[in-house]
Amino acid sequence: MNKFLYKFYVALASLCLISIVGYSQDEFQTIETRITQYLKEEINTAKLDQDVKTNSTSLKANGSWSTIDYSSTAGTGWAPLIHLNRIKQFAVALNENIENVQLADQTVNALRYWLKVDPTSTNWFQGEIASPTNIGEILMLLKNTNILPKTLQDSLLTQMSQGNVVKAVGANKLDIAIHMIYRACVTRDKALMDSAVHQAFLPITLANKQGLQSDYSYLQHGPQLQIASYGQVFLNGEYKVASWLLGTSYALSAEKVKILDHYLVDTFLKTIRGRYIDFNTEGRGISRNDVLDKKNISEQKNGHALLTLAKKVSQKNTEKLEEAQQRISEKQAPSFKIEPLHTHFWKGDYTLHLRPAYSFNVRSVSKRTIRAEQGNNENLLAKFLPDGSTNIQRSGSEYFNIMPIWEWDKIPGITSRDYPVDQKMTIEWGERGLSPFVGGVSDGVYGASVYQLNYNEVRAKKAWFFFDDEVVCLGADINSFAKESITTTVNQAWAKGAVKAFANGKLSTVNKKLSTNNLQWVWHDSIGYYFPSQGNVELSKQTQKGSWAKINTNRSTDAVKGDVFKLWFNHGTDPVKQSYAYIVKPGVSEKDMQNQPKSAVQILANDETMQAVKNENLNMMQIVFYQAGKLQNQKIAISVDQACVLLIKDIDSEQPTIYIADPTQTLTDLKLTFSSEMLKVTEPISVTLPQGNQKGATVSIKLN
Ligand code: CA
Repeated sequence: MNKFLYKFYVALASLCLISIVGYSQDEFQTIETRITQYLKEEINTAKLDQDVKTNSTSLKANGSWSTIDYSSTAGTGWAPLIHLNRIKQFAVALNENIENVQLADQTVNALRYWLKVDPTSTNWFQGEIASPTNIGEILMLLKNTNILPKTLQDSLLTQMSQGNVVKAVGANKLDIAIHMIYRACVTRDKALMDSAVHQAFLPITLANKQGLQSDYSYLQHGPQLQIASYGQVFLNGEYKVASWLLGTSYALSAEKVKILDHYLVDTFLKTIRGRYIDFNTEGRGISRNDVLDKKNISEQKNGHALLTLAKKVSQKNTEKLEEAQQRISEKQAPSFKIEPLHTHFWKGDYTLHLRPAYSFNVRSVSKRTIRAEQGNNENLLAKFLPDGSTNIQRSGSEYFNIMPIWEWDKIPGITSRDYPVDQKMTIEWGERGLSPFVGGVSDGVYGASVYQLNYNEVRAKKAWFFFDDEVVCLGADINSFAKESITTTVNQAWAKGAVKAFANGKLSTVNKKLSTNNLQWVWHDSIGYYFPSQGNVELSKQTQKGSWAKINTNRSTDAVKGDVFKLWFNHGTDPVKQSYAYIVKPGVSEKDMQNQPKSAVQILANDETMQAVKNENLNMMQIVFYQAGKLQNQKIAISVDQACVLLIKDIDSEQPTIYIADPTQTLTDLKLTFSSEMLKVTEPISVTLPQGNQKGATVSIKLN
């Protein structure tokens, strides 16, 4: 290369470098301005002046407040955080008005005190997430004020460098990445920013061990269902960071926006009916008052509501998000723009079934997943929550804040021992399930789910068959040697209006209790319950009492009471091969029940080998084979050489479609035979089952 050319290239390279540096400095400025604005909006401005005045007056000369216990090591409600929150308010005030010299001095003092005392908590979250996040926010707000001596800022930045972002998963990873972004902005450290943003968006993938899954469920604390709870923190955080980075070189890629939107629109929002979320999605948060009310994801005065942030980031789903906002804000009915949907989450052991008139979702657990957790003294009584719990919603508010007065061994849907006193969970952070046979088949609109229960010395084969107007719930092979009675609970929800029962050939209004072995149907709160094979059924409509502290010691000990509708089968003690059948028909009037004393569906089998239901109107059959076997009736014969769950559509046609799933998630293929009045398939059909991350998902074959 000649000298001239060399010089030219050097000059060109320098020019590029200068422009890159200039560009990234501009980006830093853009990102920093957005974040600072965001943080300011988060602080309640109406109360800010008063709070700052009060706390400025009460701050001692050494930079501490006498009312804060700095020695506290509490896991939750950690007192020292109050110190940082107050400084954050000071920082917002100073960001608005740098001239306040006294407040500036106090802020510096209070931060020095924090470093001197260096408070610690027994909960890693406080040290690695809560505390560095707060310090980072303070530094961001103070950045342009220049009131912090460099040595103090450096010490705070050092203290902030907590948490292993690479090792952390899901929402925790994101939280750590966010305080890294703060640090990168304060120090203008491009390498740190690159790594922080990379880590922040890393959880937006379907290849997670924990976090978002290939079936678009969300699992955290091991493979434990956390669709709201940690899943909501994930959504909030990702959309928040994505909104800060919009239009910069750090912006979230289109591919990842699509994944995030899918989780928000097609999973998370589907678990909300009206403004209330399915109680199965909240993890241990089920034990916190008001948690099921999702109003705050739709409306927040500062514009930081999840759906507002999502609309900024994603232009494509604006309409769907607005529809959800209409339902959540109760401007539209819970049925507004709800399309029929059926989804089985084979990674999460969870089923969603939506119709305009209702939601009916089921949570179960397998040896692949983890049962409900208690931890930090929260969610003490949810021992049996994943044992086939059914969330049945019409208005949405059926279970809102009922948890302190629930009888926790009669959670809707579960089969369990009936203890005189609710059992505490002794194992913290969840234990692994035991069942190998748990899953569901789905065509996207209809489906069947199965949960083979084996827990706490109770065994049962439980299955749900989902149609348009009804869900058929079957249980078979119920066995236990426990000394308590075994019960299957049909529902336990707020009592609302009259309870009607048709038993022993006559209709009655149930005022307190009913116990019968000849029940045809029950009707309450626009939901009908049919009992096609009777059984010993008990019903109560009574006041139940409790407190939030009973299920979560961090919460209020105030007494809570209310009237509860509770309906359950009593299988008695030492049941051997017992069974139950009930059909839930949501969205019917009492008159409809009287005019239609029977449901249109037909139960074809309910024993230890097979459970099967046919819906004549839909020309559809759903079958759970617990072992290789054959189902034969006047119209069709179908056999399988492996246990599986099936859905057959267009039975009475020349082209039926069969949907198949493998609840063991171990098979590579199976063989089936089929014949009907319209179609005789002579050779066995070989079905290849999905593998890898799709194990347990549904495959379909069109016959003929
Ligand atoms: Ca009980």
